[in-house]
Amino acid sequence: AKTAPAEARVTPMMAQFIEIKTANPDSLLFYRMGDFYEMFFEDAEIAARALGITLTKRGKHQGEDIPMCGVPVHAADDYLQKLISLGHRVSVCEQTENPAEAKKRGAKSVVRRDVVRLVTPGTLTEERLLDSGSNNYLAAMTRLRGGSLNNDSVYGLAWIDMSTGTFQVSETDDLRLAADLAQIAPRELILPDSLLQENDIRQTAEQSGGSLSPVPRAFFDSATAADRLAHYFGVKTLDGFGTFSRAELSAAAGILAYVEKTQLGERPPLDPPTREAGAGRMLIDPATRANLELTRTLGGEKQGSLLATLDRTVTGGGSRLLASRLAGPLVNPDEISRRHDAVEFFLENEMMREGLRQTLKGAPDMARALSRIALQRGGPRDILSIAQGLSAAREALEQTGSIQGSIPAEVTTARASLEAAPHELGAELVQALKEDPPLLKRDGNFVAAGYNSDLDELRALRDESRKVIARLQAEIAEELGVRSLKIKHNNVLGWFIEAPTAQSDKMVADPGRFIHRQSMAGAMRFTTTELAALESKIASAGERSLSIEMEIFERLAAEIVAAGEAIKAAAQGLSIFDVSSALAKLAQEETHVRPTVDESRAFDIKAGRHPVVERALRVSGGDSFVANDANLGPDKSDDPTGNIWLITGPNMAGKSTFLRQNALIAVMAQMGAFVPAASAHIGVVDRLFSRVGAADDLARGRSTFMVEMVETAAILNQAGDRSLVILDEIGRGTATFDGLSIAWATIEHLHEINKSRALFATHYHELTALSQKLDRLSNATVKVKEWKGDVVFLHEIVPGAADRSYGIQVAKLAGLPTSVVERSKAVLSQLEEQDRQSPAKSMIDELPLFAAFAQTNAAGADGAINPIDTVAEELDVINPDDMTPREALEALYRLKASR
Ligand code: ADP
Repeated sequence: AKTAPAEARVTPMMAQFIEIKTANPDSLLFYRMGDFYEMFFEDAEIAARALGITLTKRGKHQGEDIPMCGVPVHAADDYLQKLISLGHRVSVCEQTENPAEAKKRGAKSVVRRDVVRLVTPGTLTEERLLDSGSNNYLAAMTRLRGGSLNNDSVYGLAWIDMSTGTFQVSETDDLRLAADLAQIAPRELILPDSLLQENDIRQTAEQSGGSLSPVPRAFFDSATAADRLAHYFGVKTLDGFGTFSRAELSAAAGILAYVEKTQLGERPPLDPPTREAGAGRMLIDPATRANLELTRTLGGEKQGSLLATLDRTVTGGGSRLLASRLAGPLVNPDEISRRHDAVEFFLENEMMREGLRQTLKGAPDMARALSRIALQRGGPRDILSIAQGLSAAREALEQTGSIQGSIPAEVTTARASLEAAPHELGAELVQALKEDPPLLKRDGNFVAAGYNSDLDELRALRDESRKVIARLQAEIAEELGVRSLKIKHNNVLGWFIEAPTAQSDKMVADPGRFIHRQSMAGAMRFTTTELAALESKIASAGERSLSIEMEIFERLAAEIVAAGEAIKAAAQGLSIFDVSSALAKLAQEETHVRPTVDESRAFDIKAGRHPVVERALRVSGGDSFVANDANLGPDKSDDPTGNIWLITGPNMAGKSTFLRQNALIAVMAQMGAFVPAASAHIGVVDRLFSRVGAADDLARGRSTFMVEMVETAAILNQAGDRSLVILDEIGRGTATFDGLSIAWATIEHLHEINKSRALFATHYHELTALSQKLDRLSNATVKVKEWKGDVVFLHEIVPGAADRSYGIQVAKLAGLPTSVVERSKAVLSQLEEQDRQSPAKSMIDELPLFAAFAQTNAAGADGAINPIDTVAEELDVINPDDMTPREALEALYRLKASR
């Protein structure tokens, strides 16, 4: 019988690989071999393509070549970052014993290996893998059905930043879910796999922008959730943390289960969960967030977003806090004004502020360093970061304490957390660490001289021995008369004497003293008993000092972790200082003013500006920005409903800019910033909606028009009398009459049903007639000037309707061929002539008011009108005594139809 061909046999190493790979199927496996992480099979093909590294092969499996590629361990972080940013997950598999140990088990034994960590986008902690200015949230969502009587679903959300330890939970519903996820903007979102199967949930989850990680339903088991949390935090009951709903506990437990799965035993130092009430934030749905370019432009860049324009922070923590404030503006006027107080404080105390900012600039990212230390991934530089961060905290405390007069609450709270920081520990760390320690603790040499006397002694011994070696070299060279004789060191031989072969005869002749070690091309190497003794002295001094350094490291790390809460609080205090002082600096440089935010329905902006466009104009050195008022508040104080401005004007006049600037001013005011205006009075906006210039969403099979209608539907279904609505060019994506009709009905609905404060820009001049019937609708237009047949934009918003659209003039400015421009003019005058004969303006007289129309058609599509009420109202007007049997029957049919 033939034996199996060699290639059909599986080597022990490959068998081990396959076993580990099978246990970790959804990730690329980094398999440690010596100084490399190797990948095999499909993993190798994926990684080679993604990383642009060479694909090679190693041996055969079932007769086929095994594809392989590898990355060096010392550069692994960079490759990891690339893979993670492309949405991959990586299991890191290390050797868990050294080759000698494996040998003891048998000559053919493979070194034991195990996955020590699963690297996913939401669980990163390495400085190099993280963006210092952005939070790296891992979020979990789960759904519980039938929480309340009407059987609606509730969703539990939990999110953590493992690199800083923040842990938040909230509960939400179908209506808010997308907006809440968009506010969190997770890097990775975990959810039960069964939930991900549902199409609408999948879409909402995808919209969050995070990479999706389905996990078994059991992760979220709500029956055991509270116990799991209590166990993680080592407490008997969660009562001390506050009360949480079942959905929140379930989401929180799900996230912890995932953390345990990916960290394999290490427990990141998470804060106890705090509840973030979704209702305490302005609701901004994902489309609005994207359209207004709050944190990213529509092109996906940070540069050019509102956040980038406002950000004057100088620390990573400050930048992260600013981003999260911008993502979730507040709705409580008292909380908002507390933030404004802090900004004002730093605006008034400029000298102090600039000193403070100087201090902050030198403050490292304590929160992230702490996390790495607690996860056993920290190095000497992380300890140094804590040391320098704590010194900065002390300095900041002094700087902000020297101010005369009252100190606002937000500043006082931040100061309290700096006061409570472990300053003694900080002082000790400063003494313990060298100023520029190496990256890895295993290299030693990070403890400062003078900190530990044993260590100092050993180092002296080591240095002394080196001097002794130098002296020895001089002596032997002198004695033998060989000037080029050297005493050198390498990792194989240790210390040795080296001389050119031609001059080595004296040493060869005295083997009792000079022990031959190696012959090289042109040189010979020897050792002596004296040198060997010195060598072991140096080596043992090195080993002993390294072990002392390790002990010191572990002790300091333990002290830091024990003081973790206070360190985190101090880091947060510094971030608050950074954000408040940065907003003050911004306000000063850009002349922003403090807005008044209260419970009214006011929206009164005097001389408002668009912060991003204004900056862009200044940078490009073009025209300066033209400021504009907006006033959407109620005319009468007893009338709580807002006004709508309908803005007409040619393309390029500045309509979108005006719309957006008012939305941005509301966001800025409520996140606690000052605003680009001469003055601003805003009644808290609870929800912000915008529909502006959507792009085709072809990936999801939606045309521009479909996207626009979906977004408009969301607004009309959700906006209320505290909302601010920005609608730009509704109905553009379809035939003129369809578009006009939709825009018309949309305005009526906003006016009659939603009663929101709204800005509506349109190129349908016909709509301006609506102001005759809708008493809270006003027309506004952007001023233009005609000059020698060209149009000049003045960017000034004034009351009234645009007289013409100037489309042809704008087209001419854009460089359309003269022949086309002339021909367009001819066609236009023909069309205008026709229009004069049957003007669309008469529509306004023929159409019933929206409310009356909606009521008689209540059986139709409009869900906003309760059909029961309509039936009741209709019954009220019916008088059976006045009806013929036929009329009565018809009425009955009508009533039946409207149910
Ligand atoms: P529209 O929506 O009416 O087509 P945009 O709002 O897109 O016009 O504005 C077109 C351009 O005009 C902007 O890119 C900007 O450069 C300029 N612009 C708009 N508003 C102003 C303003 N208030 N002051 C100065 N320039 C402005």
